[in-house]
Amino acid sequence: MTDPQQSAAQQQSIARIETYAAHNYHPLPVAIASGSGAWLTDVDGNRYLDFLSAYSAVNFGHSNPHLIQVATEQLGRLAITSRAVYADNLGPFLEALTTLCGKQMALPMNTGVEAVESALKIARKWGYQVKGVPEGAATIIVMDGNFHGRTISVVSFSSDTVATTEFGPFTPGFVSVPFGDLDALAAAIDDTTVAILVEPIQGEAGVITPPPGYLSGVRELATRHRVLMIADEIQSGLGRTGTTFYCEQAGVIPDLYLLGKALGGAILPISAVVGDADVMGVLRPGEHGSTFGGNPLAAAVGLAVVELLQTGEMQARSRELGTHLHTRLQSLLGHGVTQVRGVGLWAGVDIDPALGTGRDIGERLLSKGVIAKDTHGQTLRLAPPLVITADELDLAVDALTEALAEAAAQG
Ligand SMILES: *Cc1c(COP(=O)(O)O)cnc(C)c1O
Repeated sequence: MTDPQQSAAQQQSIARIETYAAHNYHPLPVAIASGSGAWLTDVDGNRYLDFLSAYSAVNFGHSNPHLIQVATEQLGRLAITSRAVYADNLGPFLEALTTLCGKQMALPMNTGVEAVESALKIARKWGYQVKGVPEGAATIIVMDGNFHGRTISVVSFSSDTVATTEFGPFTPGFVSVPFGDLDALAAAIDDTTVAILVEPIQGEAGVITPPPGYLSGVRELATRHRVLMIADEIQSGLGRTGTTFYCEQAGVIPDLYLLGKALGGAILPISAVVGDADVMGVLRPGEHGSTFGGNPLAAAVGLAVVELLQTGEMQARSRELGTHLHTRLQSLLGHGVTQVRGVGLWAGVDIDPALGTGRDIGERLLSKGVIAKDTHGQTLRLAPPLVITADELDLAVDALTEALAEAAAQG
């Protein structure tokens, strides 16, 4: 559907994509031409506050001036080498990244799902070489409702039938247990278990926060049974929740961090697996890799992103503005909103079905100059860039308040 007030040019932009792109997404009906900070501008010059941030890939804002400068300088010098040689800026990036994580080694990749796949391979190899699991028998425990990406192996352990239907046969070796249930997790661990893979907060599932004590319980079980705890912080990490990692708020240090999305500074895809040498060291030359992983452009942008996080300013913004956001969202409970979850500048807002779906409210928000997307039917996910101001935040929550009131009046 398109807005009748859109120019012919905008409608044409949308129609072309619908014609030539595979239909694996259901975008909001708007054609974006540029972005700056927390704002996006469509082809007609209308401005929107970005409350999606490309699923948290834009934590530091669109066209962040410092990141653009770093990327532009690097582009003029060297962009792609492959890991067949030693690029001069990869060391500084990985040293800074591992220091940020309090770990010893990192494997640079590109997209988030590649970091997940890489960690699964590392965990299996660690299981056979270090833990002594008979080769071919390793199992990895995952959580119901997980989202870790879209490859065959990763959807093999998805509980979302849309992600799995007609994509089989699937990769074996995974066991799924309810998120938040330590007893079920404990019962699922046996001699073949090499890893527990968990999103500290389940993002796609609707910004589902874990019950108190859950992540530390996962950590204890993993340690007690000599199993790797793999924290997929691809969406929850790098400042989104008010700390560098959400695990920090639970006082937990996982064996492996999976990072992606915001690590690329909203410029290019950068992901990584970060851990200690006793785990990361199982990989030998030729066993795993990526032509583009850790390329010089990525190393330059990745280092600048890590430096940005070292100051703590982004995390503090997320904490402070997040408190404001959540206070305001709480006041919408009973006014078209049935539940609000999340931490920092990240919220899952459940829309009262009497008012429509998350998508319906998202389309109303679009017409009021706010871009936000639904997840799983009734939930609207809010995740503005961390560079947003308090005034901009208020504009968007005002728009949401109006959108809900209008939906209620029309329902
Ligand atoms: C987005 C996401 C991924 C996959 O990242 P891509 O870059 O889309 O491959 C994996 N895990 C989590 C938690 C995510 O949010």
